[in-house]
Amino acid sequence: MFNIDKIRDDFPILKREIYNKPLVYLDNAATTQKPKQVIDSVSEFYSNKNSNIHRGVHYLSEEADTEYRQARKTVKEYIGAKKSSEIIFTYGTTDSLNFIADTFGRSLLKQGDEIIITEMEHHSNIIPWQRLCDQKDTVLKIIPVDDNGTLILEKLKELITDKTKLISLTYVSNVLGTINPVKKIIKQSHKHNIPVIIDGAQAVQHIPVDVQSLDCDFFVFSGHKMYAGTGIGILYAKQKWLEAIPPYRYGGGMIAKVSFEKTSFLDPPQKFEAGTVNIAGAVSLKAAAEYINTTGLEIISSHEKKVYGYAFQKIRKLPGVTVYGNTADVCGAISFNLDNIHHYDAGALLDKMGIAVRTGKHCAEPLMNRYGIQGTIRASFAMYNSIEDADALINGIKKVQKILDTK
Ligand code: PMP
Repeated sequence: MFNIDKIRDDFPILKREIYNKPLVYLDNAATTQKPKQVIDSVSEFYSNKNSNIHRGVHYLSEEADTEYRQARKTVKEYIGAKKSSEIIFTYGTTDSLNFIADTFGRSLLKQGDEIIITEMEHHSNIIPWQRLCDQKDTVLKIIPVDDNGTLILEKLKELITDKTKLISLTYVSNVLGTINPVKKIIKQSHKHNIPVIIDGAQAVQHIPVDVQSLDCDFFVFSGHKMYAGTGIGILYAKQKWLEAIPPYRYGGGMIAKVSFEKTSFLDPPQKFEAGTVNIAGAVSLKAAAEYINTTGLEIISSHEKKVYGYAFQKIRKLPGVTVYGNTADVCGAISFNLDNIHHYDAGALLDKMGIAVRTGKHCAEPLMNRYGIQGTIRASFAMYNSIEDADALINGIKKVQKILDTK
């Protein structure tokens, strides 16, 4: 059973008051708050186990190494990968996507090849490909989005040619909350032997993910959006790709043998983890995955659906409000604007009521252009958000309208 009070109790920050008002935290798509289990795991690591990994023979180093290896195994199980060696620790989603563009992209794509992304991508799944296109003279093609915020999949058939070498798309939109039919897209792409990258940054905290069942070639996400620390993320890749692509960074911890004439590298995952990694970050990610598993993502998902659905329907019905996107398969984020009120002013006033939302383009400027807008107000939900939080937001919107909509 889902016990919201018990869950909220696990997150110390939710007890804070902002301007003497209880905090209503609805900026979870930017980053989630951390439960004490995650905070304690980091404190315990630094208090009792801190050491560098890999290179040590002493007790603490082996203990730290064990923690790090266990973290990799926990992540492997969390996303249903076949082997732990397919899990590479990175700094986050952005780092993982740059990694793929710089390794897979640079070594395997040739002049004239094509990459397909979508109109709803976060900048971190646009710019690395744009840069690659500049460097390698490859072509970026875009799957458009309809008014409801869903991908126009019929266009994918037209976009795919024998030059298409890669498709990269988000599982869940960080602006609209749309859950894309990634399994279907992957199946269609594989018929043409095109590998697919899934940006799971807004998925792993809301819906169960099984990379083997999805059959994606790459899957990336950030720890901090699923209740872990910042500066830790994941790049999952099928073993065959990890063997085919060169290292991303070079240095200590990833080599088998070094001489001035020649260097050989370790096997994946070490081949891709040069230097001192974010060990405490990995520990926090393990704790976060375990924390989610204690309740179960299916149960969390059904609670979030209830709160999201309630907020979505109520906000949509408010006069003077435009909600962007209207699809059945959604989670996480709701984006909207208020007539005659700048999104930034609305966000600033909501903040004074203790309500944390995000305003602006949400690192998805092409999607803003698609809707012909400068930005939105975005409320985004996590497992600890309640119907009361949704009501606070709705009442907050009404107050904002009363104060700022003077037309
Ligand atoms: N992709 C999506 C869909 C996102 O929502 C985000 C974060 N807003 C990112 C990528 C980038 O994540 P990070 O900043 O953790 O690298």
